[in-house]
Amino acid sequence: MKKILEEPLQCVGCGSCVAICPTASISMRTKEGGFLYPEIDQSTCVSCGKCRNVCPVLAEKAKKEPRQCYALVDNREASRLKSASGAASILFAEQILEEGGVFCGCRLDESLRAVHDVTDALDTLDLYRDSKYVQSDMSLAWPKIDAALKQGKKVLVSGAPCQIAAVKTRFGDREELITCDFVCSGVPDPSVFELYKKALEKEQGKAIQSFYFRDKTNGWKKSNIRVVYDDGSEQIIERKNSDYFRLFGNNLFFRDCCYNCRFKNFNTSADLTVGDYWGIERLYPEIDDDKGCSLVIVNTEKGEALLSSILNKATVWQTPLAFAIETHPKLEKSIPKSAYRGLFYKHYKGDEKSLQKAIKRSMGHSILDKIIRKISTIK
Ligand SMILES: Cc1cc2nc3c(=O)[nH]c(=O)nc-3n(C[C@H](O)[C@H](O)[C@H](O)COP(=O)(O)OP(=O)(O)OC[C@H]3O[C@@H](n4cnc5c(N)ncnc54)[C@H](O)[C@@H]3O)c2cc1C
Ligand code: SF4
Ligand code: SF4
Ligand code: SF4
Repeated sequence: MKKILEEPLQCVGCGSCVAICPTASISMRTKEGGFLYPEIDQSTCVSCGKCRNVCPVLAEKAKKEPRQCYALVDNREASRLKSASGAASILFAEQILEEGGVFCGCRLDESLRAVHDVTDALDTLDLYRDSKYVQSDMSLAWPKIDAALKQGKKVLVSGAPCQIAAVKTRFGDREELITCDFVCSGVPDPSVFELYKKALEKEQGKAIQSFYFRDKTNGWKKSNIRVVYDDGSEQIIERKNSDYFRLFGNNLFFRDCCYNCRFKNFNTSADLTVGDYWGIERLYPEIDDDKGCSLVIVNTEKGEALLSSILNKATVWQTPLAFAIETHPKLEKSIPKSAYRGLFYKHYKGDEKSLQKAIKRSMGHSILDKIIRKISTIK
């Protein structure tokens, strides 16, 4: 059987191979819950090798030495409050759109699935705010990025480091392409997010209209889930009371490649890297108003130019890179794989009943649960 990767679980699920295949021989299929992996139809494959050429896992990594590191806040408080941290990503996107370019980022679609899409409209940018803690599907974005670059437009792509590596592997170091990645913990299983939304709808007896992972009603540091229902009502769910974030905190449902991520250490060649500037109060207590502060690491000249162009709308403080690395170990290291992840996916089969069983088996706290778990991991 033809494979793109010798070790299929190294696949980051970017879908670039599917988008490039000239004979439409590759389709994405779910494995391990809801994660998508490519499968090749050998009867139509013409062995052109294009899929391997665009795969970011196989590509040589070009490490960029970061140049400068900053804390950044959007001067417009309303904008900052809507964003995950200090609104750096959206400031960059606005600037590119004002220059006549397009922005590619992650939004929740009409079914509240995380997808990467491309926009040239300033009034749609709110959709791209907020960290969606779930793997986004890039299939919609590939042809749109390609078309915009062919038209000579500036394109800013924002995404996880592996997604940016995929974009750079496919399109190369073109002048019009600007990229921004983030400090990445890893991406959760989309099928668990689907079931989580369904469970909330069942419990509330109404349909979800919008979903926010990082609502700042109780502050940036204690951000909660906010759900808006179709009757206009709102629900705030504290992270500690959410099964979804309990799975997140226990490192149980991230994509397999995230536990041994090949895209750390600035080797995605992104022009900019952003994150939540946790710990900034130790350097600049005056910034700490609990409304959100972005970490911005400038990796290239292009990144420097984009940051300079938004300084009329933002305030920045220079910080040592060593401090950012100390406060963000995920810049260099992958999250540890939970010893119970195998157990979780042994029980989880993509439906609500098996999810509850998997949660109980891998996270249950009663003595009986612990004994069952111990026996199951020994087997
Ligand atoms: C899955 C995930 C894990 C993260 N882990 C960390 C971490 O451990 N430490 C840390 O400091 N920061 C982490 N971040 C980054 C952080 O949460 C903020 O996204 C970042 O600080 C940018 O904030 P902002 O205010 O500039 O973004 P906003 O203005 O809120 O814009 C959000 C940006 O993130 C992009 N985005 C949102 N969801 C996704 C997604 N699922 N896939 C790809 N791109 C997406 C959007 O396209 C947009 O550009 C993570 C983000 C995600 C999505
Ligand atoms: S080798 Fe070519 S034809 Fe075959 S799956 Fe890859 S891209 Fe498609
Ligand atoms: S191109 Fe992307 S989806 Fe295809 S095999 Fe490589 S990592 Fe996986
Ligand atoms: S941890 Fe690595 S592999 Fe996982 S989403 Fe982030 S960059 Fe991609």
